[in-house]
Amino acid sequence: MNKYRYFVMVKGIVQGVGFRPYVYKLAMKYNLKGWVNNNSHGVFIDIEGTKTELNIFLKELEHNPPSLSIIEDISFESKKLLNYADFSIKSSQLLEGEITLISPDTALCSDCIEDIKNPDNPRFKYPFTNCTNCGPRFSIIKDLPYDREKTTMKLFKMCSFCKDEYINPTNRRFHAQPIACSSCGPKVWLEDSKGNLRKDADPILATGKALSEGKIMAIKGLGGFHLCCDATNPIAIKTLRIRKHRPDKPFALMAKDINVVKKYCYVNSTEENLLVGTKKPIVILKTRENITLPQEIAPNQLTLGIMLPYTPLHYLLFDTSPEILIMTSANLNSLPLEYENLPASKSLNKIADLFLMHNRDIFSPIDDSVTRVIDDETISIRRARGYTPEPIKYNTKNSILSCGSNMKNTFCISKDNYIFMSQHNGDLENLETINRYKQNIEHFKNIFKFTPTYIACDKHPQYASTIYAKELNLPLIYVQHHHAHIVSCMLENNLKNKVIGIAFDGTGYGDDGAIWGGEFFFCDLSSYERFAHIEYALLPGGDLAINEPWRMAVSYINQAYHNTKEGIEIITSLYPEKGLILNSIIASKINCVKTSSIGRLFDAVSSILNNFHQISYEGQASIELENLIDIITTDYYDYKVITAEESLIISTSEIIKGVLSDVNKGLKKGYISAKFHNSIVKFSTEICCIIRSKKGVNQVVLSGGVFQNQYLIKNLLINLHENNFSTYINKLFPTNDGGVSLGQIVIADEIINKNML
Ligand code: ZN
Ligand code: ZN
Ligand code: FE
Repeated sequence: MNKYRYFVMVKGIVQGVGFRPYVYKLAMKYNLKGWVNNNSHGVFIDIEGTKTELNIFLKELEHNPPSLSIIEDISFESKKLLNYADFSIKSSQLLEGEITLISPDTALCSDCIEDIKNPDNPRFKYPFTNCTNCGPRFSIIKDLPYDREKTTMKLFKMCSFCKDEYINPTNRRFHAQPIACSSCGPKVWLEDSKGNLRKDADPILATGKALSEGKIMAIKGLGGFHLCCDATNPIAIKTLRIRKHRPDKPFALMAKDINVVKKYCYVNSTEENLLVGTKKPIVILKTRENITLPQEIAPNQLTLGIMLPYTPLHYLLFDTSPEILIMTSANLNSLPLEYENLPASKSLNKIADLFLMHNRDIFSPIDDSVTRVIDDETISIRRARGYTPEPIKYNTKNSILSCGSNMKNTFCISKDNYIFMSQHNGDLENLETINRYKQNIEHFKNIFKFTPTYIACDKHPQYASTIYAKELNLPLIYVQHHHAHIVSCMLENNLKNKVIGIAFDGTGYGDDGAIWGGEFFFCDLSSYERFAHIEYALLPGGDLAINEPWRMAVSYINQAYHNTKEGIEIITSLYPEKGLILNSIIASKINCVKTSSIGRLFDAVSSILNNFHQISYEGQASIELENLIDIITTDYYDYKVITAEESLIISTSEIIKGVLSDVNKGLKKGYISAKFHNSIVKFSTEICCIIRSKKGVNQVVLSGGVFQNQYLIKNLLINLHENNFSTYINKLFPTNDGGVSLGQIVIADEIINKNML
């Protein structure tokens, strides 16, 4: 049989995922000779064999690669035969200035689960078990190339048992950088809230028991600490809420296995695949009506956010703990996630009774990701563990840093035809979070060998991300917040031409200095026309009005009734104590910014229906308004579309009057809420029809935090489809402010390329 030689190049996420041993095994299987190595360009295989053998090899390589790898491209060329004697693995090389794709942190694989459950296995009950198919990656990497010396595993010297596996190309742990066992690897221990070491023979077993007894535990995990308690114990949950100063915001849960999840929630096959898959995000699921879990987990919600165990420690914990646990990110009120032992034990000592610590350091703290399934599609709500730093292919040569929004911040970098989005950085509202944000930017610059030549940021002058952007002293591109939202969605859906963009949002700085957030754009990747917007209302007291929805109710009622006696009477009947004073402030327009935010309109209606005075987490009033809907109706409130000089304006006064009139009639809240939602669907569809008739564009792009409202998005999509529009929503990247940095970087790239800067 004639022999041939191929030189094969594989590109994508192929480093640190067991690619070379996989190729080695494949070469052995088909009796092929040559070598494999990798560098930042990808994996290279020089291989000799018969044509049939080589073709089978290539097919298997393409269709059945290692589970954590993502192949973007395979190519090969024929070369002159060298007659290699054997097949070998060459060591990896680092090329100066080149990007290496890094695998995200991945949930424990089924082989490793078997190892920790098998009493005969050397890694029985070992909480840091991993292999090339699973375990920590991004969170422990300090620098590249990805090898043990440049991770937080450097401190642990491999024992001979681990070393043998590490150097054996046929072993599942060949070159698994975080490889460890109980004799050489990281360890766990328990501390009390005063930092005293406890002498438990089995700290994980003791943790499980403490949880069963109602204790609140701080547990160090993969990307940071969690606060944890028994989710079936209302007293423990209440205690956690009081200690954490978190009265209402839903807590995430971790369930022992998928059957436990199904006990409490409805789970379809897409949701099940997401829950049990390799990324293991939190999945928002519809709660069963006969649910027996305490209300305190998620007050006034119809859903629960649940994830399954993703580290060996979690699996071992459930051997003795209750079957469902509160598993919430450990931080003090709006401060960043705790991830280091000493700071965590200091800051959380008033919350946690006990600390389950370990000594594998976390280098990049990273939160749990949050997702939801809509119409069988997975939607990202918070993009972090399991997803970061997977890149998006994007045709650009510009090195841009986009600084993102202030709330739910992420940033992006672009280099060599990739965009990388950071993990969720939280709300940039305090020095600690801003410092964490800067620390994460520095880390991205380092691991991706990235030096920005342009900066993109939000137009809001007071955003911490904008202030940071200015300090960098590089060419700066200011991007309007809602344009960024729309473009984030255009990028995901590969849209480049003009579209109709609906941005329904809470807060975003407008070109006229007002707060926008109910916008209809006619736009492309570099510019936009504000075709229509929701009528301006006054935002009394600025940020105060966002935290106190009743203020927006007073503002909208004042506007609907033109500050007449009738309106004032309604205001004083709804808000007898403070309504009148606020009304006079609004009438005098003192300290009132204008806003077209639809989020604020939701707040106002929610306050009128629920007598809402103060929220304790972002979006609470809107969420509770949506959750009132318990009826199917197509009724809607009248509204007016006014033609103004520059844009069409959707007047809200009729809607507000309609809501008040139905409240007066004693109609059910669920009906009024549905009718209010339907009005938005109705006028949005009408505006899209007007834009289509004027501009001849049929594609509607929906983005912005308000589209997390399920009733609104589902019904708006149905209505738009009935009117023959094609529609596009965010899926891979959040529709909330977590997606803004993606829009910013694409807009900036367009502006640079078109010489519009
Ligand atoms: Zn594994
Ligand atoms: Zn070992
Ligand atoms: Fe926004």
